[in-house]
Amino acid sequence: MSRMKLPRGQAYLIALAVVVVIAFSITVATSGETGTQSAADESTVSSSSPPSSSPSASSKSSAPNKPKSQSGPNFEIKALKSGEKPPQFIIFSFDGAGSHQKWLTFSATAKKVKAQFTGFLTGLYLLDDAHKSAYVGPGHAAGKSSVGFGGTKDEVYQMINDLNKAKAAGHEIGTHFNGHFCAGAEPSANKWDAAAWNSELDQFFSFLTNYAQINGYTDAPKLTVTPADIQGERTPCLEGDSDQYFPALLAHNMRYDTSKVSNGIQWPTLINGVWEFWMPSVTVPALGTKVIAMDYNFWYKFNKAKDEPGRAPEFTKMVLDTYQSMYAAALNGNRAPLVIGNHFNNWSGNAFNPAVDAFMAAACNKPETVCTTYQNVLKWMAVQDPAILAGLLAQPPTAN
Ligand SMILES: [Zn+2]
Repeated sequence: MSRMKLPRGQAYLIALAVVVVIAFSITVATSGETGTQSAADESTVSSSSPPSSSPSASSKSSAPNKPKSQSGPNFEIKALKSGEKPPQFIIFSFDGAGSHQKWLTFSATAKKVKAQFTGFLTGLYLLDDAHKSAYVGPGHAAGKSSVGFGGTKDEVYQMINDLNKAKAAGHEIGTHFNGHFCAGAEPSANKWDAAAWNSELDQFFSFLTNYAQINGYTDAPKLTVTPADIQGERTPCLEGDSDQYFPALLAHNMRYDTSKVSNGIQWPTLINGVWEFWMPSVTVPALGTKVIAMDYNFWYKFNKAKDEPGRAPEFTKMVLDTYQSMYAAALNGNRAPLVIGNHFNNWSGNAFNPAVDAFMAAACNKPETVCTTYQNVLKWMAVQDPAILAGLLAQPPTAN
């Protein structure tokens, strides 16, 4: 049975508050988690530990490595002509990015339809379980995590190979930070200050570059994903105060966030130097009610995130119908990039990932449609005529 290094049991309880324009407040409760830690473990963490400094590791591995030739963007990056419509971008992303089986599944589908996508890596998947104490989450004890660690040495090696293959195929790797502390595993990301976020990122980048030394590996495969590749992130459970974490992103040469929620499908917005790729709140056609278009939020909306494998086909269809309706709305509306946020997971009888897979297979080959990464959309935006781009960005969100 394949190990899923994912927050299986998080409950994202979403409260939508309509204030003047629309403000979203997101309340998150954490229940059982996967990996080696249980929710009960997390609730007992010390709240007195200061944010850690990076684990020490200095010399870089000298293992020789032949860089694989890397695929570039899967579409031609060129400026729109006056009056020309932008491509309908679809950005698929997966938080955690720690399942070999799911890398295989989505890489194969993406290859068939020439799609590229983004994996937001949980940095702890580069630490094997024996070395978990190398991680100290902000305000937490050493070795604590809500989503486990990398497992065995073989599993860490598999992870590295999956990441290398993904990069070679032109998929993007970003970060989902490390310990995934959401409400209930206090102090959760909502309570972190800039120093805490900097500590998370310092540690993430240290794991990325120094996993061999930290784990004591002498024959580890070299990870071709470098700090320069990591340009964006999604926060744990969409938690966090951007006044605190945006400065940490910029301090780590990162350019975008994709954690804030928009009412409808909206073009990215530059906020304090960081591009926000909004997570859209959309209508589920089968229910006529709105939800943030992310797997866990769908699940919570459908049945309060209870494991009901018998309803998997019904859930898959409701999610796929929602994606199709979002796609049609954007394609015929403001053409804002569709952000399809997910985890690699098998929740409720694997109800959710097949909807993403089916949508990728069905939509990415459609005319005027490009399924690509956040970084490639940013590259495309950078070559546009500033006035044309400003016009696109200023459009109101599209409702599905
Ligand atoms: Zn997550």
